[in-house]
Amino acid sequence: MTAPSTTTPSTEEVQTLYDRLFTAYGPQRWWPGDGPFDVIVGAILTQNTNWTNVEKALETLRRTGVWSFAAIHGTQRDELAELIRSSGYFNQKARKLHGFAALLENEFHGELDQLLGLPMDELRARLLGIWGIGEETADDIVLYASGKPSFVIDTYTRRIVDRLGWRVDGDAYGDYQSLFVERLRPDTALFNEYHALLDHHAAEVCRPTPKCDGCCLLEICLTGRNTHHESS
Ligand code: SF4
Repeated sequence: MTAPSTTTPSTEEVQTLYDRLFTAYGPQRWWPGDGPFDVIVGAILTQNTNWTNVEKALETLRRTGVWSFAAIHGTQRDELAELIRSSGYFNQKARKLHGFAALLENEFHGELDQLLGLPMDELRARLLGIWGIGEETADDIVLYASGKPSFVIDTYTRRIVDRLGWRVDGDAYGDYQSLFVERLRPDTALFNEYHALLDHHAAEVCRPTPKCDGCCLLEICLTGRNTHHESS
């Protein structure tokens, strides 16, 4: 059997992927009504866990009055870790929250608007300078809290791109990000919706064992087409 070959997607193909997902699932309304505090804390807590566990931790923070970065800054690390225990990796996440709160307090006088108002590349660099904050979390914050167009890449996005048969020039986060950024207009609403749709699709359909039958991407997906040919 001939090995399936990957191709570099065109601008139209990257747009078509979005259009198909949006037609199938509609608007995802990610973090629509929450303020930047919820979004930033949620973005840090959601790494390596599901959103239900994050919600429990957010509720505990809210209930105990640790509901601002000033309050986080003034809470002992072990106490903070206990409050967010339900989100997993709670010692590391407490350290990250403390790192964010310290940056805000020490360099921006506690003014979140000042930090989030930095130019996109500068903001992203400042976030990446915080202990434990990686590119995905930084882009989540840039996109969903500051409203600037930084495209978020996660394992779900990588999985879909790889299965579609799209060629990526490397395996780094930035290689996958470039594939989208170089082909789309820098539009915050578009990047917001696109990321949410990819995550929804990977969670519900393009799962570790993909449900290709009836998938809205079947006609444009190398893996799906190959699977279909083999079984028909
Ligand atoms: S056709 Fe299959 S492999 Fe391709 S995107 Fe859909 S579920 Fe994933």
